[in-house]
Amino acid sequence: MPWFHGKIDREDSEQRLLRSSRVNGKFLIRQRENNGRNVSFALCLLHNNQVMHYRIDKDRAGKLSIPDGKKFDTLWQLVEHYSYKPDGLLRVLTETCPRPSHDSVVPVENPYNFRSNLELPKPNITEAMPMDTQVYESPYADPEELRSTTVKRSDLTLEDGELGSGNFGTVLRGVYQMKKTQKIVAVKILKNDDNNTAVKDEMLREASVMQQLDNPYIVRMIGICEAENLMLVMELAELGPLHKFLQKNKHISMKNITELVHQVSMGMKYLEEHNFVHRDLAARNVLLVTQHYAKISDFGLSKALAEEENYYKAKGHGKWPLKWYAPECMNYLKFSSKSDVWSFGVLMWEAFSYGQKPYKGMKGNEVIQMIESGERMSAPADCPAEMYNLMRKCWTYKPDERPGFSVVEPRLRHYYYDISQ
Ligand code: ATP
Repeated sequence: MPWFHGKIDREDSEQRLLRSSRVNGKFLIRQRENNGRNVSFALCLLHNNQVMHYRIDKDRAGKLSIPDGKKFDTLWQLVEHYSYKPDGLLRVLTETCPRPSHDSVVPVENPYNFRSNLELPKPNITEAMPMDTQVYESPYADPEELRSTTVKRSDLTLEDGELGSGNFGTVLRGVYQMKKTQKIVAVKILKNDDNNTAVKDEMLREASVMQQLDNPYIVRMIGICEAENLMLVMELAELGPLHKFLQKNKHISMKNITELVHQVSMGMKYLEEHNFVHRDLAARNVLLVTQHYAKISDFGLSKALAEEENYYKAKGHGKWPLKWYAPECMNYLKFSSKSDVWSFGVLMWEAFSYGQKPYKGMKGNEVIQMIESGERMSAPADCPAEMYNLMRKCWTYKPDERPGFSVVEPRLRHYYYDISQ
């Protein structure tokens, strides 16, 4: 990134910014002298011939932010955001301050996960970024909002009109009155018919998994409400499931699809790092907040793994989404982040084929035979070769040889940045 100047001091950054063009909003990022192990950066910004220095800290979860500012996964996202929104800065970032030609920057520990030879893609002002939406940040990011897993019925208003439905009941739109703000939410309502405790337990299990997760690319649970029905209150992802959205919107570009599947891979990398297996990753379980913002949902089958385990062993075959399952799930009932990677490959296939059904017209046992014989689905029409190659990697037969999300995510990130230039 041309705006990253590595470890230079404050005076040096000021000299560089004041050299030649003195356009307002000219900027660079430097790495600060770090005390101890914490890496921190400074955003240096030219404003009326003066250089402002904003500290960028990395929190314990690895998120980057200027003091009291929004949190980002990468410096790249931070720069992109402040390129069209001042959001606390004196002005927006405009022009990159070039590095002196002799200067080559080798990132010390590559904390921002970008390739140093990539240019900053031009920010597209018409495209809202995930961080501009209400649901990017945790609903409890404000410490004054008390975090509790129970939602009072009196704080919840349900609206007419279904967002969707499933075996358990329906999902409605609602408004949740928090201490300081109101939030539009999705409410999963358990049907009451026969007071089925098994279904109730299932929903409570799903809630207990969701409660432990906090990532911008995963639907967050806001709380449980026990009233006329058992209700699971979640962040709203208004545009609904990815496959249906793509079926109806064939004009969506390959770049846009890459952006969305990359976001899913970021959410999955988070799950992998926190030892959760999803076990139902599919395009139907990716919900869209906007055309440029995807979130993983439906944790009904998910499991938290114990520290020392790296897989979950199911007790027997169930009502499983076979077409999304890796061979070791079928053969040995073993589920791990690697089997989620297999499902992610199928999800990529669904996304790049604009929501078509995978293995169309085939029965479960025919799919198993096809996989065992070494055959795989062919590339969707017009799918970029890089993306099909990545799907094939996700469909590596042996889990030990299959990449994890720690490998899949950067591959998507680099490809997305390459095509965004
Ligand atoms: P089943 O197990 O019976 O198939 P399910 O667990 O798959 O049901 P969900 O996927 O959780 O059910 O929800 C069903 C539908 O409700 C989704 O396909 C989606 O259209 C809608 N929905 C669920 N959660 C949300 C949300 N947070 N925001 C917007 N819509 C949602």
